[in-house]
Amino acid sequence: MKQITIHTASKTYDVKIGVEMTNEIVSFIKKSFPQVSKLWIIADKEVYNLHGTAFSEILSRTYDVTTYLAPKGEQAKSFAIYEDAINHGLSNHIDRGALVIAFGGGAIGDLAGFVASTYMRGIPFMGVPTTILAHDSAVGGKVAINHPLGKNMVGQFYQPEGVFFDLDYMTTLPKTEVLSGFSEVIKHAFLSDRAFLQELMDNFHSPEQLDHVFLTDCLMKGIRVKGNIVAKDERESNIRAFLNFGHTYGHAVESASGYGNRTHGESVMIGMIFALYLSEQYCDLTFDLQGFIDWVASLGYNLNIPSHITFDNLYEGMKLDKKSQHGNPVFVLLKDIGKPLMMKVSVEDLRRADQFIRVFN
Ligand code: NAD
Ligand code: ZN
Repeated sequence: MKQITIHTASKTYDVKIGVEMTNEIVSFIKKSFPQVSKLWIIADKEVYNLHGTAFSEILSRTYDVTTYLAPKGEQAKSFAIYEDAINHGLSNHIDRGALVIAFGGGAIGDLAGFVASTYMRGIPFMGVPTTILAHDSAVGGKVAINHPLGKNMVGQFYQPEGVFFDLDYMTTLPKTEVLSGFSEVIKHAFLSDRAFLQELMDNFHSPEQLDHVFLTDCLMKGIRVKGNIVAKDERESNIRAFLNFGHTYGHAVESASGYGNRTHGESVMIGMIFALYLSEQYCDLTFDLQGFIDWVASLGYNLNIPSHITFDNLYEGMKLDKKSQHGNPVFVLLKDIGKPLMMKVSVEDLRRADQFIRVFN
């Protein structure tokens, strides 16, 4: 088992990565919450069907366990499901001595964290993430649900008590979700150093063949990069915004495609290529962009933006980005791998980068 300690201004906690982690989780709860009244598992229904029975069976040997099953993925992050989860807690006598366990991907982490942060003014929660992408969402303490007018519009900063990755769960991830998660690992490499990026390019050849040693190494390094940034800036007042690398154009592509039609990570991959092109043009980045594009295309990322999604559609989306200043999109670009900076980019330059993205497909 591997372990990283995350330090933030409001809390210090450990992220553990290994196999057969449930007994480890029981030991952690015994030590950290000796008086816990109940465990309240908030789970993605699909994930629970695959892995939940064994998980709650082991916990039930020691604890009183109540399980709330939310619809899979992004559907969990609605006001209606949030209310339903609170109803479930109240009617099952979840009290202030309970501990919430998020069991699923990033969406469940966001829902369960938000429920925990507001239930009776806040009860503790821990994460058992089941996707690779959740190496990103499980660290940093952002929890949220969606509003019909925007994703993650209602939320808080609320840190977990601990995070336990069980690699056994990742074996059932569909290929599209493996690629989605790896995109954020690749993003963390761009924000870190060339050696990490090169290691990924040398060793990641197929989303269908992931060995535990390689996956553990990727999760550890990605978590370390994110952990170092949030340690310095928990509430995104400055450098935490670098984690948005690839997300300005990426979010615009994701939302124009209709949420659920393209994974978050694949959209971010397109956004990173867009930002790398701009970085070469305006920040003197030296990088083999074509070699990178060939590699990610060979892995199975679909980089094609359908022609009905126009630059103007995407530009409207980019202007909505939280980093925008006076309605002008601001981008995270790289002057070198591991050296991000923020930059305003003119609409003409954005149009040029958009043409580049469309031409290589
Ligand atoms: P997800 O939670 O939506 O899960 C994606 C799909 O994979 C779902 O259909 C789910 O049922 C399935 N799944 C999950 N684990 C599985 C497993 N082990 N085997 C088989 N299927 C499995 O997706 P995600 O990509 O993990 O997370 C995306 C969410 O995370 C978004 O809502 C995003 O906003 C959020 N996010 C939050 C932060 C943060 O800092 N809070 C950061 C990044 C992303
Ligand atoms: Zn992301």
